[in-house]
Amino acid sequence: MNGIVTDIQRFSVHDGPGIRTTVFLKGCNLRCAWCHNPETLRPEPQLQVLPARCIGCGACIEACPAGAHEVRGGEHIVHRDRCTVCGRCADVCYAGALTVVGREMSAEAVLAEVLSDRPFYETSGGGMTLSGGEPLVQRGFALDLLRGARREGLHTAVETNLADTWDHLAEFLPLTDLFLVDIKLIDAAEHKRWTGAANEAILANARRLAREARPMIVRTPVIPGVNDTAEAIGAVADAVRDFPNLVAYELLPYHPLGTAKYRSLGMPCPLEGLERPSAEHMDALARVASERGIAVRVAGAAAPARA
Ligand code: SF4
Ligand code: SF4
Repeated sequence: MNGIVTDIQRFSVHDGPGIRTTVFLKGCNLRCAWCHNPETLRPEPQLQVLPARCIGCGACIEACPAGAHEVRGGEHIVHRDRCTVCGRCADVCYAGALTVVGREMSAEAVLAEVLSDRPFYETSGGGMTLSGGEPLVQRGFALDLLRGARREGLHTAVETNLADTWDHLAEFLPLTDLFLVDIKLIDAAEHKRWTGAANEAILANARRLAREARPMIVRTPVIPGVNDTAEAIGAVADAVRDFPNLVAYELLPYHPLGTAKYRSLGMPCPLEGLERPSAEHMDALARVASERGIAVRVAGAAAPARA
């Protein structure tokens, strides 16, 4: 089966145990206002434009069959309404200003890339992690990848927002060694406001996953003005503290990395001008959660985990 992949990140150490390869699948069913991976939101490939890299050679104008590139008054304009994402301009842009984000790949091709690092998994206890976007959006492809990884004896992890039916999620149980579960807000109205979706099914799925006793790490992205309070983090910790399968609770500080990415994709950025929470504030929130008697980690600055 084929799927659309935005990235295959080797030597990942933040998405499960050991050294891992994280496969990012395109398409998400939530619209979190703080998403710093906007390239994974839409299911289809997109043209990404980095004007700072453009050297004005004009090769893209020549290559584009749709007339989507134009230089007017020294400014390079991309008419996205004409673009069919054929990728021809990106092929000739040697400056690296143009890229097509999201490539169609077979499960076999993805697994071949994942398996090239097998020795590292074996020595570190690592494996393959599926992330996104939301892996369940490309459910058939994700399941194919997990089956293939299992056949090869790899440890498997799935990062999911749980915003799907239990029946769909249940298909992943026999193939997944570790679930990395995002729980962003407990307050139903706030969750709807900031992610575009209700959280009743998400929380019900989390409780059911807990009953299935599959190892689970719960993650909360900490977003200034959204959920960076003791009340909001304490509410999540209260909801998960009795899960018998809880390996750890992780707090992920907001990172403003995504703002420029929205521009490069021609997408509006819902939240601009936010600062990353201070280390002291993250530590204070971690203490709020650890007071509930659960193991809490704050994700490192170098590689903010996805949410
Ligand atoms: S091909 Fe790349 S570097 Fe050349 S004009 Fe187009 S965007 Fe700029
Ligand atoms: S991806 Fe294709 S249609 Fe879109 S701007 Fe580039 S060459 Fe033109």
